[in-house]
Amino acid sequence: MSDPTGRGIHHSQHSQSGRNYVMKRSRFIAASVAMIATTGLLLSGCSAGAADTGEKQLTFMFRGGEDEKAAYTTAIKAFEEANDVKVKIISTTADDYATKLKAAIAGKQIPDVFYIAQGDIQAYVNNGVVLDITEYVEGSDTLDLDNIWEYGVDSYRFDGSLVGEGAIYALPKDVGPFSFGYNKTMFEAAGIPLPDVDVPLTLEEFVNISKQLTKDLNGDGELDQWGTGLNVQWSLQSFAWSNGADFLNEDRTKVTVDTPEFAEALQWFADLSNVEGVTPSTAQAQTLDTYQRWMSGQIAFFPVGPWDVSTYAELDFDWDLIPYPAGKTGESATWVGSLGIAVGSTTEDPELSAKLVEYLSADVTAQQTLVDAGVQIPNLKDMADTWVADSTTKPANKQEFLDIVNDYGRALPANNTYNAEWYDELFTNIQPVLDGKQTAADYLKEAQPKMQAFLDDANAQAGIG
Ligand code: CA
Repeated sequence: MSDPTGRGIHHSQHSQSGRNYVMKRSRFIAASVAMIATTGLLLSGCSAGAADTGEKQLTFMFRGGEDEKAAYTTAIKAFEEANDVKVKIISTTADDYATKLKAAIAGKQIPDVFYIAQGDIQAYVNNGVVLDITEYVEGSDTLDLDNIWEYGVDSYRFDGSLVGEGAIYALPKDVGPFSFGYNKTMFEAAGIPLPDVDVPLTLEEFVNISKQLTKDLNGDGELDQWGTGLNVQWSLQSFAWSNGADFLNEDRTKVTVDTPEFAEALQWFADLSNVEGVTPSTAQAQTLDTYQRWMSGQIAFFPVGPWDVSTYAELDFDWDLIPYPAGKTGESATWVGSLGIAVGSTTEDPELSAKLVEYLSADVTAQQTLVDAGVQIPNLKDMADTWVADSTTKPANKQEFLDIVNDYGRALPANNTYNAEWYDELFTNIQPVLDGKQTAADYLKEAQPKMQAFLDDANAQAGIG
């Protein structure tokens, strides 16, 4: 994920989050797939099945850290034994995944089972790369679809025009609620009442507390503790949505960032640095990014995703989750990401491939291993109930993650459009706003037509509008 904002570089490591859920939305994948489809190669392509030896074989391509590999290796071994099949695992780094998958597709070697980004679903369906697995997952004796988060399943439904409805093309590898955290130890040291876990702070309350916690602790004339330090690319959604603004209209044909509510949210965000002074300066953030400063105990409020929990468990201070501060709707808002696991269209054994998808998404042992490793929340609702009730592990308010998934989390704005160029355009030239050199309203008025042109192009490619 390239970070065009400059200011956001200080968030780069934290942006693993974004990397998970905003995998490069490569036009070139769709393009190469389209080429294959039109030359008919997809139909003649053979999968990795080894029918001549009589032994069934499936390929599974994914990316992830050691914790995920370990959990999946165990699950896959059990799957192989139960189904008398050999699963060939192809794993890549997060950075290499999109490129290698593209190469596999272009080389007529679509894996039987593989990870897909939420946002790629339309292109993969339209180009015939992924299989409709509705009949297999709905008809499974071993899968209770109702026990998986609706958001996770619905993210991979596509009815031919809108994502979120219709046939199922993947099951979730995970869901990733982007929550908000605070340094409890810092609050206690300053004698500030702890934020309510159920009632979001207003923007004004958030700024007031942030000001109280922005300090020069050692009296050398330089600030060394701040209220916050947020990356516009990952946190603007929350403030825009909770202020009643949105990025698109409901049928995803019009970019709607040029509204007063949107401008107000973006201006407020920029003012945190330029007017309120509650974030590290650009120079300070370049010395040590805000992710590192949060982990060093210098920042009061910072985002927290499930993928952070294992790292944050080791921090020297106590922290917990709260709802994002709320704009004028009074309601908290944030995004929830997901990765999917799909079946390749050329598989020789759709039923068994779908069963592997089911296993990877919903196998109790694999899920428990991933949850215990602190890298994701459970996919299974009943497992989540047990997990939330466990007070021996952080965060105390795990319920906030589930509330985001169940109640108020939304898909990232570009996840339901054919590509992400319209959305990326918003951040390309946003720096002068963040630096206080251009007003949010002026900027958004300039950005809207450029974004609209990209969206129109995306919708034309999708055959919409
Ligand atoms: Ca100081």
